Amino acid sequence: MSQYESLSLFIDGKMTVGDSGATSDVVNPSNDTVLARLPHARKPELDKALAAAEKGFQAWRRTNSFERAKVLRKAADLMRARVDDIARVLTLEQGKPFIESRIEILTGADITDWYADEGRRAYGRIIPARSDGVRNMVIMEPVGPVAGFSPWNFPVTQAVRKIAAALAAGCSIIVKCPEETPGSPIGMIRCFHDAGLPDGVLNLVYGVPAEISEYLIPSPIIRKVSFTGSVPVGKHLAALAAQHMKRTTMELGGHAPVLVFDDVEVDAVAKMMVATKIRNAGQVCVSPTRFFLQDKIYDKFVATFTSGMKATKVGDGFEPTTRMGPLANPRRVNAMQALIQDAEEKGAKVETGGQRIGNQGNFFEPTVLTGVSENARIMNEEPFGPVAVMLRFKDTDEALERANKLPYGLASYAFTKDSRTATRVADALDSGMVTINHFGLALPEVPFGGIKDSGYGHEGGTEGLAVYLQAKFVSQMG
Ligand code: NAD
Repeated sequence: MSQYESLSLFIDGKMTVGDSGATSDVVNPSNDTVLARLPHARKPELDKALAAAEKGFQAWRRTNSFERAKVLRKAADLMRARVDDIARVLTLEQGKPFIESRIEILTGADITDWYADEGRRAYGRIIPARSDGVRNMVIMEPVGPVAGFSPWNFPVTQAVRKIAAALAAGCSIIVKCPEETPGSPIGMIRCFHDAGLPDGVLNLVYGVPAEISEYLIPSPIIRKVSFTGSVPVGKHLAALAAQHMKRTTMELGGHAPVLVFDDVEVDAVAKMMVATKIRNAGQVCVSPTRFFLQDKIYDKFVATFTSGMKATKVGDGFEPTTRMGPLANPRRVNAMQALIQDAEEKGAKVETGGQRIGNQGNFFEPTVLTGVSENARIMNEEPFGPVAVMLRFKDTDEALERANKLPYGLASYAFTKDSRTATRVADALDSGMVTINHFGLALPEVPFGGIKDSGYGHEGGTEGLAVYLQAKFVSQMG
């Protein structure tokens, strides 16, 4: 299809299909058609990417932060100028509504701009010395070549968060972007290249994920690993990185609780949460999933939320009226069906949805479940799809205890007009991020990251730059 990207790897400043001959199909999740074949990197291509990243790092670390900022800002401007083209590719391969794709590209530009500036503020410090004539200095240096692994739910922003922060810190990077949605990352990476980034500083590979991570992470060239994806894969890669003493950032799954207290304007909160739940068809690690609703507002919230989910127009991402696109791959449809069936077998009621739509593409109905047993799989496993579970609570202690019960700890939501309740839940919710009375997560300037099984390290904000810097202590006399 002419609108789709020409697929390739990007190694040492050049688009290349490599020599392996191995490929995989990229499929449009709206109609199951094959969009293109993606060339895979094997060891020879990975060796070239590693050598390029080493060479690129030596050049880029010596480029001063003001010059680096100019390149990053230009890349951000190119993303804005090319937003429609890259967004079209993103919707074709991932399915999300075109408007969401545009927002994703523009957010990628904002992230790049923000890190362009933040890289110029990688300050060290001077520590008062014990002897006359001695200066104790802490200098922040780039950690070195990075291996980044980004997923298919936000093919552009998940990769840009790693790329922009690493480049701003003075690191080079090899990213393995998602094989199922490879075109939009290529479009974004062209922006960095066309902005004048030196060859080798940024490299893009595709292939068999396990083969690539098992080759790149142990390489002595790679000094830092950043992964966004599922908890089991994150644990596997963190263990591999530990064996080779590599620094890691792990952005893993979540199972976000939403606490709605009985003093809120129910309709407004329910409508806001429908929009948040259906965004990217629920394939978002901070997607609200377990709704804890206080007794008095339970019925009204369930009714308003259910009618909002039911009214959601599901369809092809290019249809202007579409509010929710297909799921990104057939695995998610199977996962939704299995989780809903299990919940029903354990006594749940499907208030709306619950079914695949049609037999072409991966369309699934926005789904609301009530009466879900605590031991249903969906209460413990991240659904990563358009399913919400309605639960009732009596008091704050009970809501907090149930919200904090899972091994996940990424994002939590709370809605209340009482500032004491708001402060209390902000303190007591066991998660890396809490957003109260609105959706305030994932901006370029704020830290994004989890605790417990949801991972460690941050992307976004000054914390997101810090993970690509290492402190060097220099004590100098005279
Ligand atoms: P998966 O566990 O097979 O893969 C998750 C991601 O990890 C993919 O991008 C995949 O390419 C990558 N991956 C898998 N094995 C790898 C390896 N050995 N080395 C390097 N990368 C590897 O699952 P999936 O079916 O693609 O996605 C489903 C689950 O993944 C979801 O249920 C969700 O929990 C999680 N997920 C989370 C995020 C996030 O934003 N945190 C994004 C996408 C998927």
